[in-house]
Amino acid sequence: MPEITRPRLCPFCESSCGLLVKADPASGEIVSIKGDPDHPASRGFVCAKSQGLRGLRDDPDRITKPLLRQGDSFVEISWDEALTRAAEGLNRIRDRDGIAGLGIYLGNPGAHNAGVMLGMPALLGAMPALMVSAASIDSFPRFLASLMMYGNQARIPVPDVEHTDFFLIFGANPMVSNGSMMGAPDMPRRLKALRERGGKLVVVDPRRTETAAIADQYLALRPGSDALLLLGIIHTLFAEQLVKPGRLAAISRGVEQLQTLVADYAPERVADLTGVEAND
Ligand code: SF4
Repeated sequence: MPEITRPRLCPFCESSCGLLVKADPASGEIVSIKGDPDHPASRGFVCAKSQGLRGLRDDPDRITKPLLRQGDSFVEISWDEALTRAAEGLNRIRDRDGIAGLGIYLGNPGAHNAGVMLGMPALLGAMPALMVSAASIDSFPRFLASLMMYGNQARIPVPDVEHTDFFLIFGANPMVSNGSMMGAPDMPRRLKALRERGGKLVVVDPRRTETAAIADQYLALRPGSDALLLLGIIHTLFAEQLVKPGRLAAISRGVEQLQTLVADYAPERVADLTGVEAND
């Protein structure tokens, strides 16, 4: 039987690179995992993590069927029995303890998994519960900022890397993370293209990262002083009358308060604390 090749998406990060997975139908083995040159975003790019799909699929510890604990071991049960037992158990806890007794833990990947995206609202609608996830650790401040600024935690602006001519990066390392949340795979190509069209890349990070190494300018700020540097930048924008909201003025609130808030954070004042010179 000839080998078959199928287009798939890498599920390991938000970049969701296109893959061409070649398999042997006779043995069920994956023969190769390569980048799909026809995928419009990744255009054939994949990082090393994509090769881990084979290990994920073939892991002997991977659970593919419902298991019921019996003492120190597990026995296989049917999906019908598993779902019935789960529903009975969850209802019992909800009747006894209310919503506070129920919790959902959502692992990664979530935001780039269609099953989770489509199924989670239905699950939470049917069974309200406390939910924690990998995002509880690394993304909730971002969600809170979006909720306060844009009215919805899921509204997360991402840079238009393909078209910007000035890319300022705070504390991210897309040469390694591959754009992740930006959904822009193959950052090496995109950053190279930015500079080839005359754009400028500036990286602010306490560590000289792989992205800092290829930047036009690298600012090594003191750990934990990001907010001060940002206050200094906003102060400068107001001081040099570069704040021009244009049509956004009609839907913006608090611009005057922001100006008042940053009044004391001149670049010369924050320089000592951030380690970044005022002229930089
Ligand atoms: S950047 Fe790597 S991990 Fe992320 S989707 Fe692409 S191949 Fe997968």
